[in-house]
Amino acid sequence: MPSEFIQFHKPHLNQETIDSVIETLKSGWWTTGPKVLKFEEEFGKFIGAKYAIAVSSWTAAAHLMLEAINLKEGDEVIIPSITFTATAEIICYFNAVPVIVDVDPATLNIDPEAVEKAITSKTKAIIPVHYGGIPCDMDKLISLARKNNLKIIEDAAHAFPSYYKDKMIGTLGDATGFSFYVTKPLASGEGGMITTDDENIAKRASVMRLHGIDKDGWKRYTKEGSWYYEVIAPGFKYNFTDIQAAIAINQLKEADKLLRARKHVSDYYDSVFAKNELIEIISVPNDRRTSYHLYVIKLNLDALKIERAEFIELMKERGVGCSVHFIPLYKHPYYMDKFKFDQKSFPVSESEFPRLVSLPIYPDLSDREMHHISNSVIEILEENRR
Ligand SMILES: *Cc1c(COP(=O)(O)O)cnc(C)c1O
Repeated sequence: MPSEFIQFHKPHLNQETIDSVIETLKSGWWTTGPKVLKFEEEFGKFIGAKYAIAVSSWTAAAHLMLEAINLKEGDEVIIPSITFTATAEIICYFNAVPVIVDVDPATLNIDPEAVEKAITSKTKAIIPVHYGGIPCDMDKLISLARKNNLKIIEDAAHAFPSYYKDKMIGTLGDATGFSFYVTKPLASGEGGMITTDDENIAKRASVMRLHGIDKDGWKRYTKEGSWYYEVIAPGFKYNFTDIQAAIAINQLKEADKLLRARKHVSDYYDSVFAKNELIEIISVPNDRRTSYHLYVIKLNLDALKIERAEFIELMKERGVGCSVHFIPLYKHPYYMDKFKFDQKSFPVSESEFPRLVSLPIYPDLSDREMHHISNSVIEILEENRR
């Protein structure tokens, strides 16, 4: 057993990033400046999106995207049950209604059939969450959206870089939000990005991310000098900073390498777990490519004497930090009390959630550590076979 505790996540850091942050600090650009512009340009190019708008988090990105599509009080937005609260809270910001639907048991992504059943005359948008980095069934969702005149706003907090049929996530829906939170596949501590090809969404989100200041307004008045600006709406303070961009630019440079390193861990876990009847693993549909953000195992509880909580405790005793993604939204007191969800409407979430465990997967996880993790999983399971 390694002498040090294996954390559930550790961000990747290299000397170039450290140097670049120090250089940024010395440059005086501590907030939005040339590095943010450079990062937006490079990220947009990497994704293949017309517009890339850097913001302070995924949550900020999503708030801006919903504002830009003119979400209103009483409108409905369809989201999956198994996601982080951010996916739902941003809908509540508008006094709109998060319509939570069940997931597909194979990928734990939003179930397109459940989406179809949930569409009403009030539905305005769907927010697919690419769980763990595996893309949702975008063809079905896009065709439902077209038929019903809905917007698709993607939660790609896990999905960098991920592909659906050779198209990169970030190029499919009306607009997509990425997260650069410390645990995410491209991390800058905090941060987020909107990608879109829709000029109206891009323009509105760009204005609203910084106090509703219309940049074109001051361009029209160049003779007034750089002090002049016009406020056209009560905007937000959601801008990304050059210090964050210094980290993000370096992470983007290494994106392919970091992806390969996560794949290496995932392939190894697959090879150990694939044939063990005490667990199931999630496989990526053939027409998609994952970012390998999460590695989720499903415990076969019927064959075990322990529950998930005990399993995680036993892993901790062996020096391994695990996590759970996610507690279904309808189980949280706020959503349960406010929207009165019936647990019976979520049979897949109800049967899958108690079995889910996320194992450590990140580029700097050593071979020795991943061997220790997988050995621990197998040993704990075998010792607790029913
Ligand atoms: C992390 C996460 C978010 C929130 O991202 P922030 O950048 O922290 O706002 C949203 N959705 C999912 C699925 C996430 O995992």
